[in-house]
Amino acid sequence: MMKTRIKPNYKKARSLATKALAEHNIHDFPIDMISVFSSYSDVKVLTYSEMAKKGNCSVEEIIEINSSEDGVIHYCGKRKKYMVIYNDTVATKERVYWTLAHEFGHYLLKHHEDSNRSSLTRNTLSDAEYDIYEVEANFFARFFITPPSIIWAINMNNSNQISSYFGVSYTAANNTRKYIVESLKKGIIFGIPSILNKCYSQFVQRINHGKTCVKCNSYFEIENLKQCSICNGTVFNKYKKGENSMAKYPGVVEVDGKGRAKTCPKCENEELDFDGNHCNVCSTYLVNECSDTNYCGTFLSWNARYCHKCGNPSTYLNNNHLKEWDYKPVYLPF
Ligand SMILES: [Zn+2]
Ligand SMILES: [Zn+2]
Ligand SMILES: [Zn+2]
Ligand SMILES: [Zn+2]
Repeated sequence: MMKTRIKPNYKKARSLATKALAEHNIHDFPIDMISVFSSYSDVKVLTYSEMAKKGNCSVEEIIEINSSEDGVIHYCGKRKKYMVIYNDTVATKERVYWTLAHEFGHYLLKHHEDSNRSSLTRNTLSDAEYDIYEVEANFFARFFITPPSIIWAINMNNSNQISSYFGVSYTAANNTRKYIVESLKKGIIFGIPSILNKCYSQFVQRINHGKTCVKCNSYFEIENLKQCSICNGTVFNKYKKGENSMAKYPGVVEVDGKGRAKTCPKCENEELDFDGNHCNVCSTYLVNECSDTNYCGTFLSWNARYCHKCGNPSTYLNNNHLKEWDYKPVYLPF
């Protein structure tokens, strides 16, 4: 006989969430839930649209079959396999995100084994059981995708800010914020669990220095960034995380910490293991730096078209090793 639980196990939900953050090496938010699920060989993830297509029916019918508008996790005890199915047609990606974190909670908390059921819907469980599982899964989701200890440590007490940094809905952000305030009133202290130290320090880096250029959508985490090193834009969005500029606007050759090429950008000479900054084969200047060498002279990264401190062009842009960020080659019609 299964013992009926009467109280949610908050401590367990919290510690599983913390462990999962460490295990998946999370150091930025929002978390890519699909990739998290993909690391478990006993979990398959499907969308309501895919299911509707397979079953040749409407998403509304899938909602009915699963008794949930947002998503479910089913368990097949015989094959020991889980299936997460989520509604990809809901209005916001933040809602999908929460649903996936919630289902992940059911999975790690082993609610199916606990209840001996293949689904966790109201029809299959007693009200009390259902409520306990829901509360635990939500509590897990809160600690996984909006970890209160991190939010408290970075002193973030604005729900809009929490929502944009962690990629959750305003409601979810506000609930976490209220939870922190209430807990503090009760004398609960939020310490960063030691297994989250790395996650925390990398996230702090983003809070302090992360910026996205409004013009070219490049994302940077550079101290003293005043100008975009890709497009020379000066307007940044602190809350939005844009694209990786290294991937989107790559350079031609890698450079070392002093901006000096590891391969000549012109003749591809790889034997640059000598003092001096000119290629010994073609005499090309090897360093990518701010072209204002009198007042600035900052060494730049290999894809920098402009100096991030003063906005002057980089030597690589001036010497045509790099093209302008919005350069489009012209193909002649012959
Ligand atoms: Zn649930
Ligand atoms: Zn830019
Ligand atoms: Zn050369
Ligand atoms: Zn400069």
